[in-house]
Amino acid sequence: MNDVLIDLAKKIKNIYPDKDILPLHEPTFIGNEEKYVLDCIKTGWVSSVGRYVDQFERMLAEFTGVKRAVAVVNGTAALHIALKIVGVKPNDEVLIPSLTFVATANAVVYCGAVPHFVDVSDTTLGINPFTLENYLKDIAVVKQDVCFNKKTGRIIRAIVPMHTFGHPVDLDPLLDLCERWHLIMVEDAAESLGSYYKGIHTGNFGKASAMSFNGNKIVTTGGGGAVLTNDEKLADYAKHLTTTAKLPHPWKYEHDQVGYNYRMPNLNAALGCAQLEHLDDFIDKKRRLVHKYERLIADYEGIKLFKEPHYAKSNYWLQTLIFDDKKYSIDEVLQTLNDYHVMSRPIWKPLHLLDPFKHYPKADLSVTEKLQHQIVNVPSSSYLGEDIDG
Ligand SMILES: *Cc1c(COP(=O)(O)O)cnc(C)c1O
Repeated sequence: MNDVLIDLAKKIKNIYPDKDILPLHEPTFIGNEEKYVLDCIKTGWVSSVGRYVDQFERMLAEFTGVKRAVAVVNGTAALHIALKIVGVKPNDEVLIPSLTFVATANAVVYCGAVPHFVDVSDTTLGINPFTLENYLKDIAVVKQDVCFNKKTGRIIRAIVPMHTFGHPVDLDPLLDLCERWHLIMVEDAAESLGSYYKGIHTGNFGKASAMSFNGNKIVTTGGGGAVLTNDEKLADYAKHLTTTAKLPHPWKYEHDQVGYNYRMPNLNAALGCAQLEHLDDFIDKKRRLVHKYERLIADYEGIKLFKEPHYAKSNYWLQTLIFDDKKYSIDEVLQTLNDYHVMSRPIWKPLHLLDPFKHYPKADLSVTEKLQHQIVNVPSSSYLGEDIDG
């Protein structure tokens, strides 16, 4: 085994020596979680109505500065609904990064639409607006304010930038591109609660955005998600669609379209309210953990810590090491770290290489294909940022 990697593993493990295993990301329940969840059980309000859902939505809107938040069962459902309410239709193409969690592509397919994979930048890990512009000049044309793929004849309706590991995409050039190419932006902000682009919280830039509160995210509701939008009408529509499209009435079952049973249960929202009370603290600790990793890897050649882009303040949801692929084999890195109980993971397999998505259109993806062999996420739980021995 590689001595450098063993040394690295031991040093990471030493960030929190009391633990036998350092998980990749563990939630922290140190506040009102138990109290609020018990309150649901004691009052009987555990399901699809109850005050915690409204409170969770209000707290999210307040924290992010987005006008409205609609809480749903998970982040994938949030993406599905966000795409639907902005007008993604069957047979439309939707531009998405190939370097993302599979949910981004799944949600597009749920709409009957076609994921179209584009490349990322190695300085942001998100969609590269500059290579995308050149690609669009090559394959697309705008006719009467609608963007068409010249090769497939389909409409390219929307684009879904994803803020990888909490690091905001370079949004200004992307918004600019959206305006010129008549594309609707939907942000996949599943990983970026607590991340800001030029001082504005992510999720404010898309016509609609999606967040996730899965167990491994910075704040968890067990399972959960939210659709965010600054457009009141779209928010009302999201609410309607996610509550089976039922028309309000004290007892009649009147539904005006095919809806979805996607509403977040009160039990989950209760957990979320307690978690949001600690979000600032979680972010603070995660940002302090960055300095620990920075000191820790300073001695090694060919290992870099991914840092937030200059325009951003990131929540540093998952800490990210980038290995020089001429010096290190990523499989050996992962084997060594995990052997030493430092739970570490590679970045997702690029989606265009997965069986269900192989046949979809794609741009040149050379940066994505290179990064997949270089990126390792290392333990990132917020408590690791605590000062334990000064
Ligand atoms: C977590 C995540 C989602 C949504 O995931 P759920 O598990 O459905 O809540 C979507 N996109 C990205 C990039 C994610 O990381």
